[in-house]
Amino acid sequence: KRTNIVVGNWKMNLTIAESLELASAVIAELGSGFSGCEAGIAPTCPALYETGKLLASGPLFLAAQNCHYENDGAFTGEVSARMILGAGCSHVIIGHSERRQLFGETDEIVNRKVSKALKEGLKVILCVGETLEERESGITGDVVTRQVKAGLAGIAGIGDLVIAYEPVWAIGTGKTATSEQAQEVHALIRKTVSDLYGAEAGDGLRIQYGGSVKPSNAAELFAMPDIDGGLIGGASLNASDFAAIVKAA
Ligand code: 13P
Repeated sequence: KRTNIVVGNWKMNLTIAESLELASAVIAELGSGFSGCEAGIAPTCPALYETGKLLASGPLFLAAQNCHYENDGAFTGEVSARMILGAGCSHVIIGHSERRQLFGETDEIVNRKVSKALKEGLKVILCVGETLEERESGITGDVVTRQVKAGLAGIAGIGDLVIAYEPVWAIGTGKTATSEQAQEVHALIRKTVSDLYGAEAGDGLRIQYGGSVKPSNAAELFAMPDIDGGLIGGASLNASDFAAIVKAA
């Protein structure tokens, strides 16, 4: 059985001091000896280094929310995979729908970032998901399959890469996909990865669900056969809610 993985995506929230406070509160809620699922948090870039020091010997790993596909150079405002690795991150979220929709990340850019992050030794959480319009036009499967294939194009082995399925219409809206809706897409993602990398890779792949996950719906979602944890936005900004979700996994 795959080990569930839960990540709190803090998005553009919290100063360094506030990040340290929330991280400490989450650890306190979990108990420092927590040894359930794998769990991590993704603070903003300025808070990574200090938060990473706080997490060092505890139960949570440190993730970044994004990184660039080059090591360094004239890319004002960007941060590279090497830099976040140096700041203490083990994981990076790539291709979040907010990056795709608000910051123009195409499948090709996402693919370059995935490739670079893996090459630098980061563990990647690759996000995919359809918009409401795409779901209503009946092309959810096509969109998600395209995003998975394009995101992984040219990548020889996925190792322990994680895919996060986040239907855009469920993010921050309070509308969760039903566990059946999510399961259907998760199964398709697993099949897509099995077709690309073989049955063993497909079986081992962790696929997180993201989109309005709360303590009240987490257990039901995580009980589905192809849902292996969650990527949590809003609820990860509350220590007891996030800890409850982690414990549900
Ligand atoms: P919410 O949990 O706030 O819907 O956000 C989900 C998300 O985008 C996590 O990456």
